[in-house]
Amino acid sequence: MRLANRRASSSSPVWWRSSLHLLAASLFSFSISLIPSPSVSLSESTIAQLRKQLKSGDITPADIIKDLHQGMEKVNESLGAYISYDVEAALKEAETADLSLPLGGIPIAVKDNINVKGQPCTCGSKFLDENYTAPYNATSIDLLRKGGAIPFGRANMDEFAMGSSTENSAFFPARNPWDLARVPGGSSGGSATAVGANIALAALGSDTGGSIRQPAAFCGNVGIKPTYGRVSRYGLVAFASSLDQIGPITKTVEDAALVLNHLCGHDARDSTSLKVEVPDFTSALGQDLKGLRIGIAKEHFIDGIHPGIREAVEKAVKQMESLGATIVDISLPHTDIGIATYYILAPAEASANLARFDGVRYGHRAEVPADVENDKRLLYHYQKTRSEGFGPEVKRRILLGTYVLSSGYYDAYYVKAQKARTLVRRDFTEAFEKVDLVVSPTTPVPPFKIGAFRDDPLSLYLEDLFTIPANLAGLPAISVPCGMIQHEGVELPVGLHLTAKPLDEVTVLRAAHAYEQATEWHKRRAPGV
Ligand code: GLN
Repeated sequence: MRLANRRASSSSPVWWRSSLHLLAASLFSFSISLIPSPSVSLSESTIAQLRKQLKSGDITPADIIKDLHQGMEKVNESLGAYISYDVEAALKEAETADLSLPLGGIPIAVKDNINVKGQPCTCGSKFLDENYTAPYNATSIDLLRKGGAIPFGRANMDEFAMGSSTENSAFFPARNPWDLARVPGGSSGGSATAVGANIALAALGSDTGGSIRQPAAFCGNVGIKPTYGRVSRYGLVAFASSLDQIGPITKTVEDAALVLNHLCGHDARDSTSLKVEVPDFTSALGQDLKGLRIGIAKEHFIDGIHPGIREAVEKAVKQMESLGATIVDISLPHTDIGIATYYILAPAEASANLARFDGVRYGHRAEVPADVENDKRLLYHYQKTRSEGFGPEVKRRILLGTYVLSSGYYDAYYVKAQKARTLVRRDFTEAFEKVDLVVSPTTPVPPFKIGAFRDDPLSLYLEDLFTIPANLAGLPAISVPCGMIQHEGVELPVGLHLTAKPLDEVTVLRAAHAYEQATEWHKRRAPGV
């Protein structure tokens, strides 16, 4: 194991920070309470455990839903995990649950940007507040239901999935169950909080630059972003269409495989959906790591990473080596341009995707005073609706995206970013000639205090350093708990990040499961919940 040496050979400590500030400068300056313990037991279980109890008839789906609901009623106000939930609808669905199905009678929370017919879908935005009820199901919801699952609860999120802390929710922030003064990560922070606090068995999230994996790491959960195109995006409210993927946040790797089995598959309604076989992801579980080559990139072990995170990840890599893996030094030389590339491409796509929120078709609609002249009414309506409906981060992204797409700047920013994306992708293609997996920390820093980055959005963007490349390259990646660190007087979870080549979720899950089973980290539950 040569990880310790990498510290000395790391490149400039601040290159990732400076590259981002350069980007910003070159564009324009833009502007505890303790959780009451819900004395529950079913909700503390994993899906795999509950399946057995359901099949034997010891419990019913309604028992699980009632147990979860009891917990939600007790702690959701302090945690902000759910924007809404409808226990009656879930109980009604439970009456006809087919327990012979793999997920028969298992309730699953859903991020509030994935459409479930008849339920709200706020996207964490006032724009879609009480004015929008989903008229159709996302394909992922249809597939989950086909597997027997029951969608239960709309999980809190950063507005339109833009953020890393869930502080950008237009309703209330979600809180980290390990320390209520801290963020649970984002943008799928409500999903991760709910799973971490045992008020969801599992939850769907969406991941454009890290939004499944980073909150999973912050809350001590497992979170997997599948290969781009594995899971249909139909019915997921689009943020950046070339990057968005739906995936599960769960308590264990086995549960992640179980849920993933019922999310994937070709869908003619999503033109980027892949026409490929879907393996049984649970078949990857229970194997050791013999013969597996794990790549450690020097660009991932730089100064600026919290020392406790570095130590936990180094230990995890050693453990994987002791389980039979071979550790290989690799280089991903374009890691440093990942964030800057993403923060051009994602806002560009967002500015186009969010144009549909115009006050005519969906959600919020501003009043136009009678004295506004006829020829100005349309523009007035559009401007006022969008000014009122979107929060500050969404406005920032739309402005940024519109700017990089505007004539005169398109080549300098958007086209250049597309070229940079190719370089990031190529790094991985070359690396995967030598290794089967790339392992790194999921995040450079532990969960931070709510409000810590309120006036510094650029520093918050740095959170995505290790997760964004998998989105840019369309690769499957997982975060799995790999330690606890003492930080500012509290104990906080650390995530290990594993990335594989396209469509190789099986290897990601196999390695994460072998590591998980050899450690106890996934058994740790947040205090007081
Ligand atoms: N934190 C990143 C952003 O703010 C990623 C968000 C996501 O994956 N949805 O854009």
